[in-house]
Amino acid sequence: MTRLNKSEKIFFVLISLLVIISCQISIEEKKEQRKRNTEAREDSIKMASALRLQSLFSNVVFADAETDAVKTDLTEDAADDPAIWVNPNNPQNSLVIGTDKKAGLYVYNLNGRTIQFIKAGKLNNVDLRDGFPFKHKPSTIICASNRTKNSISVFLLDKDSLKLSPIYDIKTELAEVYGLCMYKNRDNDFFIFVNGKSGIIEQHQIIYKEDKLSSKLCRKLQVNSQPEGMVADDNTGDLYIGVEEEGIFLAQADPDQPSDLKIIKESSKKYNDKISYDIEGLALYKSDSSSLLVASIQGSFSYAIFDITNKSRISYITSFIIGNGIVDGVEETDGIEITSSRLNNTYPKGMLVVQDGFNTDQGIAKSQNFKFVSWEKIESFLMK
Ligand code: CA
Ligand code: CA
Ligand code: CA
Ligand code: CA
Ligand code: CA
Repeated sequence: MTRLNKSEKIFFVLISLLVIISCQISIEEKKEQRKRNTEAREDSIKMASALRLQSLFSNVVFADAETDAVKTDLTEDAADDPAIWVNPNNPQNSLVIGTDKKAGLYVYNLNGRTIQFIKAGKLNNVDLRDGFPFKHKPSTIICASNRTKNSISVFLLDKDSLKLSPIYDIKTELAEVYGLCMYKNRDNDFFIFVNGKSGIIEQHQIIYKEDKLSSKLCRKLQVNSQPEGMVADDNTGDLYIGVEEEGIFLAQADPDQPSDLKIIKESSKKYNDKISYDIEGLALYKSDSSSLLVASIQGSFSYAIFDITNKSRISYITSFIIGNGIVDGVEETDGIEITSSRLNNTYPKGMLVVQDGFNTDQGIAKSQNFKFVSWEKIESFLMK
């Protein structure tokens, strides 16, 4: 064995120390990362903090209805993100579609009763658009990020039976798909945005041509940390991206537009003390005169409303919470969706659908579900 001289020994000791220190740093980093990525359901300090912050909001609404609980066990974080299909011929027969990120896709009626379950893998986020030219007739397609296959699962709605069936699967280049939203532009081109934990957002186009479905990856956008909730405005061509611990970013949704992103200042905790991270689901409410953006704020079990009518002057309006009424209150919401259309007498000005992280019935814990809230009630907070 070769003997080390004195300077070699010092060098060897120094290198060993450096290796030990850097291992220690990476263990600490991993611990810190784990801490950041936990939700309140796994972290009692976060839970207490979110409940305390929630109690500070004075705008309280109560849910009008709730869906059946998902079948996945109540100990699991399972229900995640909704979509709403407005039935144009019979609005009171509209549908709410909700993901169970451990199992597949549920379809509910407006009373919240399950009318279909599709075992389709770990579907995380879901969105839909009408008017897709499938087999030469305007059709409704539903897209969901599929974490079992790291793909986008595409379903078709049969408007007579109100049943969904899988028709296509779009491969992604992402290591772990996460958030998803759809966008239909003025030329009737259909796009899907899907993001991954890496911060990459892929934009795919889905095409029906010569009796065949196909897709193409058009563009990639990039944010600096974990995104999830996204929503696109088909009228303005704007894309809103929620970055969980930073804020909401605005981008242009058409693939031939520049890919730069602009943060909405008042969606950042730095500039708005009503924001507590994580920022999760995003949804739009559109009326003739104004456009609103709603975000679920997981750090305080609340919802923040922004006026986005004028893109150059986006402003925070107010926040609200969903309290305990006939239906239990809502905590730690992941995905949300809004329709601005009249559905029935309960939802004359549309409806907000939110995932509930802690579903209870008469105080007894149940598996997670989704809550429905009449938009008319939320509107009252905007008039103050
Ligand atoms: Ca959750
Ligand atoms: Ca959705
Ligand atoms: Ca989160
Ligand atoms: Ca609840
Ligand atoms: Ca309940």
